Amino acid sequence: ASARSKSRNLFNRAKAVFPGGTTRATVERNPFPIYVERGEGAHLVDVDGNRFLDLNNNFTTLIHGHGFAPVSEAVVGLLRSGTCFANPTEHEIGLAELLTARIPAMERVRFVNSGTEAVMFAIKAARAFTGRHAIARIEGAYHGAYDWAEAGQGIAPGKNGWDLAPVATPAYRGAPASVAEEVHLLRFNDVDGLERCLGAVSDRLACVLIDPMPSRAGLIHPEPAFIEALSVTTRKYGMLILADEVLNLRQGYTGASARYGLTPDLITAGKIIGGGFPIGAIGGREEVMRVFGTDEAKPSLPQGGTFSANPVSMVAGRAAMEAMTQAAFDRLEQMGDRLREGLRASVASHDAAFSVTGAASLFRIHPKRLAPTEFRDAYLSTAEAELMRRMSTHFLEMGVLLPYGAAASLSTAMDDSDIELVLRAFDQFLATEAQSGEE
Ligand code: PMP
Repeated sequence: ASARSKSRNLFNRAKAVFPGGTTRATVERNPFPIYVERGEGAHLVDVDGNRFLDLNNNFTTLIHGHGFAPVSEAVVGLLRSGTCFANPTEHEIGLAELLTARIPAMERVRFVNSGTEAVMFAIKAARAFTGRHAIARIEGAYHGAYDWAEAGQGIAPGKNGWDLAPVATPAYRGAPASVAEEVHLLRFNDVDGLERCLGAVSDRLACVLIDPMPSRAGLIHPEPAFIEALSVTTRKYGMLILADEVLNLRQGYTGASARYGLTPDLITAGKIIGGGFPIGAIGGREEVMRVFGTDEAKPSLPQGGTFSANPVSMVAGRAAMEAMTQAAFDRLEQMGDRLREGLRASVASHDAAFSVTGAASLFRIHPKRLAPTEFRDAYLSTAEAELMRRMSTHFLEMGVLLPYGAAASLSTAMDDSDIELVLRAFDQFLATEAQSGEE
């Protein structure tokens, strides 16, 4: 039996009940997924008894790792008294107060159950506020599965390379062609392209949807000139800025927009703010958030949701976020800096064609000599994707679960010895690759 035979057997069982054997396209299989038995702080243990340092953290959600005691206690305390009601609870106010106090763009907030839902309602809010229907978004970035949010996410070079000006295509066969006509694509950090595109559709655009450091599109720093152009141009044409911080809120106490000098009108959050339970949040300026309701009038944009603001996610999120003090964010960022610097030092010492991007507790390793500045630079050829799969296999053998297609993340459950392990695994991988290249 292999060291992962139970996972293989479970996958075979799963194929009879799930299309493709999984319930999420995002589960990595190499060639089959690793089935988890349990999580323990920074680690997870699979069904075959292997232990891995978890750099995925459920797609960056678990900022405290697995089984964080304050979250478990808060949730266990709640379970006996009921987990969902048609009535509001005090718990939702608690989490909302914490978020609005910290995040400048979040003057008011509404809770939903996922990032997809948050982005969907935020786009609708931008439409309801401006009376316009179209949006612009960054090519290659991931914003969940709302039709308009995902058009342009799966873009790839054609036979003759990349199109000069990217065009959004519907994300799946059968999607209404009108979706693509209502979505305009911008290239990250491309100031001229942004000004040209927004100018051309100036009276039709409700908002520019932007993740300040889009993970699938390369986890690349936004250039100050790009942020500035985005701010000036959207104001000029009366468009809203919708910052999708479902992933990047984890960059600091006040979030990512504040960190990069972006002042959004609407902002979405998710992942870390639910403490490991399903959540999404739409926030924004008080004036814009009025579309969801005022004391006097019926909302122009009704938003419900059977499980929205369920008390379990509310108390879990609050416990997780309360523990994320400024000091906790600082410690995570120091670990992240050490890790990124260490990875870059390895690249330099092997003169390897790799680079590292990211910030705070997030990082991504690219099989590219020059660090990418936009999605197109980060796009993996078939050979590069194969190299990254080899790297992920090597990391697994070293006991490290490293996601390679988007952002890898640290958690407060990690310490310096975990950082050392990741650095060792990467250095050994580069050494092995250099050797096999010489043979
Ligand atoms: N927006 C961004 C920036 C995300 O990273 C994600 C999830 N990876 C989503 C939206 C969708 O969130 P969810 O998976 O909770 O629906």
